[in-house]
Amino acid sequence: MNKALILVVEDDRPIRNLIITTLKTHDYKYLAAENGSSAILEASSHNPDIVLLDLGLPDLEGVEVIKKIRTWSNMPIIVISARSEEALDAGADDYITKPFSVEELLARIRVTQRRLAITQTGDQLETSIFENGELKIDYTAGCTYLKGEELHLTPIEYKLL
Ligand code: CA
Repeated sequence: MNKALILVVEDDRPIRNLIITTLKTHDYKYLAAENGSSAILEASSHNPDIVLLDLGLPDLEGVEVIKKIRTWSNMPIIVISARSEEALDAGADDYITKPFSVEELLARIRVTQRRLAITQTGDQLETSIFENGELKIDYTAGCTYLKGEELHLTPIEYKLL
């Protein structure tokens, strides 16, 4: 399987190393940036499949990085932060709240890859959606919605559901 190229943007070295180790272990290709301006540079020169973005960066606000990237690309951006709403408003696709587990990180990447695959092929045939009143589960994308709002479930919560 052709694994995705993931750009990791995180100034906190232990967290960055944890993410990189996780990606390596699971055969993902990765790039790393420790501040906003190099993140924008890496994103524009390598066109990664997914960006994992910490919002609290030393030079630029992560939100500014999202806005910059969005001026030329719709590449999926998963924010790693407690301040998630702001990031979604700026155009991020998803978020992980710190502290996060490695399993949650991998689950979010997989969901994003699946969404991407669906968007790219335009193939909606295999989409399987379960609806029950106000609850809607999209099995293909691994997303759950309640009253039209996406719920952020951990992989265990999702399985239980
Ligand atoms: Ca940080």
